[in-house]
Parts: sequence; C-alpha cells; structure tokens
Amino acid sequence: VNVDEYLSLNKYEVDEENAHIEVDLEGSDAEFDKLIRVCPAALYKRDEDGNKSFDYAGCLECGTCRIACGDTIIKKWVYPGPTMGVEYRFG
Ligand code: SF4
Repeated sequence: VNVDEYLSLNKYEVDEENAHIEVDLEGSDAEFDKLIRVCPAALYKRDEDGNKSFDYAGCLECGTCRIACGDTIIKKWVYPGPTMGVEYRFG
C-alpha cells in the first residue's frame, strides 16, 4: 500500500466558509518552497508557471507547516471547528 492509498482512507469535513490555515502567497518564495517539501499531504503546490497555490481541504492537521513557517508566511493556523476537518481511518 502506498501513501496515497492510506491518505485516501481519511475522511474530511471541509469547512468551506472558514479556512483554518491562511498562507501569504505573495510572500517569500523560499519559505513557500519549504512548505512544498514538508507538507505530508502535498497541499502546497506550484504549477508549471511557478504560480503558488494552497488548498486547506485535505489537511491532516499535523502542524508541520506552522512549525516550518508560522513566523513568516503562515498567517493563520487553527484547528478546524468541531466536527470539521480530518477524521482518521486506518486501513
Ligand atoms: Fe500540510 Fe500538515 Fe500544514 Fe495541514 S497542517 S497543511 S497537512 S503541513
């Protein structure tokens, strides 16, 4: 079983109104590239033109991005509201 298969076991209740993480996409490129490397769910991305994007749906709430860039380009990091967010299901 690979990591993608394990990740697909998780269930997410996405709070469409409230992003629980906000990242400054206009901020430091070096910091953003750090996030691309550390996020286990690969939610920080660049397209082929180098444009940055982040999608909080699919977040594992591990806190790694906050530790890596909490004092630079991560502008908000809170746990999703009650009943929201990831629900772990182990295969
Ligand atoms: Fe990725 Fe973890 Fe940050 Fe969620 S908390 S965006 S899974 S690094």
